[in-house]
Amino acid sequence: MPGDLIDVLVPIPSVERFTYKLPEKYKKKRLERGIRISVPLRNRTVIGVFWDYSDSSKTKRTKHKLIKGILDEHPLLDNNLLELADWASRYYHHPLGEVITYFFPPSLRKGQEAKFKESIFWKITNKGDFFDLSKLNRAYKQREGLELLREKGDISQKSLKAYGVSSTTLDNLYDKKLAQKRLVEQLPLNSYNDEEIKEKKITSEQKKSVTAISEALGKNKTFLLNGVTGSGKTEVYLRCIKQLVNKGKQALVLIPEIGLAPQAERRFKEIFGDRVSSFHSAKNERERLDVWLGAQRGLYDVVIGTRSSVFIPMKNLGMIVVDEEHDTSFKQAERFKYSARDIALYRAKLSNIPCLLASATPSAESMLNALNNKYQLLSLKHRATGADLPTYVPIDLRGKDLIEGFSEVLLNEIKIELNKNNQVLIFLNRRGYAYSLICKSCGWISTCSRCDAHMTVHSNPPQLRCHHCENKKPLNKVCPSCSYNEFESYGIGTERVEKYLIKKFKNYPVFRIDSDSTRQKDSFKSYLKKIEKGDPLILVGTQMLAKGHHFPDVTLVGILDADSGLFSADFRGSERVAQLITQVSGRAGREKKPGKVILQTYCHEHPQMEELLKGDYESFIKNIIKERASTKSPPFSFQIKLHAESFNGLQSRDFLIACLDYLRNAQLLPEETKTIGPLPSLMEKKSGVFRWEVSFFSSSRKSLHNLADHLQSFLYLPKQNRKVRWSIDVDPISTF
Ligand code: ADP
Ligand code: ZN
Ligand code: ZN
Repeated sequence: MPGDLIDVLVPIPSVERFTYKLPEKYKKKRLERGIRISVPLRNRTVIGVFWDYSDSSKTKRTKHKLIKGILDEHPLLDNNLLELADWASRYYHHPLGEVITYFFPPSLRKGQEAKFKESIFWKITNKGDFFDLSKLNRAYKQREGLELLREKGDISQKSLKAYGVSSTTLDNLYDKKLAQKRLVEQLPLNSYNDEEIKEKKITSEQKKSVTAISEALGKNKTFLLNGVTGSGKTEVYLRCIKQLVNKGKQALVLIPEIGLAPQAERRFKEIFGDRVSSFHSAKNERERLDVWLGAQRGLYDVVIGTRSSVFIPMKNLGMIVVDEEHDTSFKQAERFKYSARDIALYRAKLSNIPCLLASATPSAESMLNALNNKYQLLSLKHRATGADLPTYVPIDLRGKDLIEGFSEVLLNEIKIELNKNNQVLIFLNRRGYAYSLICKSCGWISTCSRCDAHMTVHSNPPQLRCHHCENKKPLNKVCPSCSYNEFESYGIGTERVEKYLIKKFKNYPVFRIDSDSTRQKDSFKSYLKKIEKGDPLILVGTQMLAKGHHFPDVTLVGILDADSGLFSADFRGSERVAQLITQVSGRAGREKKPGKVILQTYCHEHPQMEELLKGDYESFIKNIIKERASTKSPPFSFQIKLHAESFNGLQSRDFLIACLDYLRNAQLLPEETKTIGPLPSLMEKKSGVFRWEVSFFSSSRKSLHNLADHLQSFLYLPKQNRKVRWSIDVDPISTF
């Protein structure tokens, strides 16, 4: 017999379970794990999740607060998802109360009803049916309204409005008990699309992959679909999903970035019609709730979404696809530091379904898993359209004068391509106008007062901005150091390149695509539309342009600064550069016209640059894997990082030292665990706080997680220093 005390997960960073008391009226009910409950917490009311009946022998306190209310009759999440939340909380060492909030869209977190948008429907009452209309002669609008209701039966308020019946009139009829109303959820009425996929000739490579994946439907198996850019990876999983959908199942497709949603959604809609939707932060709360409910009730066949979509409930999930699996945006940097890719893998395991990781540039860890036969490797080595991969042409910048970042050769090539009515893409992974502002007299440089970083010059509006915090300042009129009044804008950013290209190529449109120019809703979509027209133009952009887009008319990609990142302090740096360069290059020559990539570099003799220039990412990543094996770095070992931040650098450091002392003294630090730090983070001061970290490496995941368990219980001790904010990062994507 369940008692009257229950454990509720509350959305705060605490590992403690919160116990509440059930009021009399709920005692007879058997509550199901996962339903939302509103409870008092400190001085507010929060939405929590019922987890279990309390073991009253374990609860020390005798007085408990009463819950405020029960929001759901049945849980909105199924058992697999509840188990997934529990696992993720343990794996990432993050409190379950916060983890579970990720499984709900914002409106449900706030306690809104789990219903689609509702509309009002009107109907006549019995009284209204027999009512003497002449009594309404003075209120002719009501009379008309009533007559219409008699004629139409059940009708929406919206339609009534179209007939000229206002809501005031309806309210008057309602007050006289002549009309009644009810709220009806507006379900997405999407009919199933049973057309077969139009026979686009599928290449033999694609066919092999489709067959392999089809055989695994209904089983848990992971595939790594490693296909060169433009090899038709999307076509492969579209076909597999079609088979699933024919069996009444659904698919979840994760993409790394909102910008890719419109293209993906359109391709899926060609096949699945309206039974496709997307979930991302560009949608408002109402829209997100509707997609979420549609997925949960099985009204959508395919849901496409960014990182947090991995938590969306799906009535009958049959497969998860993680497109661009190498992309670091699948890893959340704040608070709950999960990897959507890794959560997807575990979710697929719990649901006993296949998971497909796709990329032209797989991560070292996925490639290693494929080489070890943990994943089945499927390769697409050729472009599906029959086009060749682009050719790489390095430009040695040593001893050359550049004009606003451009070599003579590159400018020439741009001109040639535009004259041939082709499109050109210029890649520079730095937004803003210039890297920084420098005083021409004393060399003062614009730095951020809150971060260990320079401030970037922006031209529209003219100001200095820090890209690491929200700090903004007007451009200096006089130097704060020597009062001289002339400055140099040092370094180039996308705004500067855009300005130069507009001047240089007057007859062609130049589109700058970066997070500044696409801030407004749908602005990226409208750029894509213009690009698709195929007219000659120049695109200037950051990594936003590099990812996954299909630009059939781009024939030339110019990479202004191919070296950036090659000399990173992080051992993952070269993997990232190779992925970025290969991805951005892959935008060239995807259809009929051949593509060329021009890389401006100061170090084309750097061995890794040489390898990249061959255009063979697979052998590049295999070499990286060998290198990591020899240094025993991830994926050949596992890493967990502990961050500490406070307003005082020494406090952050001392906090980490105290943690290490605790582990050592309690003999909780296994011999084979390698500890690096405490060290200041790569950018020690950010937004005014000082950040330090310590990393633990081990070849045994189990022992590392044991260690993290101990660490976690130590960190949550009530006596801990409140001036230091700390966090645990499991499988971090940067070393420092
Ligand atoms: P990827 O996802 O591997 O970058 P896409 O799936 O976007 O590649 O395919 C690139 C282009 O090739 C798209 O325009 C797509 O319609 C086309 N395509 C895919 N498969 C085939 C095929 N078998 N025959 C002809 N064109 C194809
Ligand atoms: Zn100066
Ligand atoms: Zn700053």
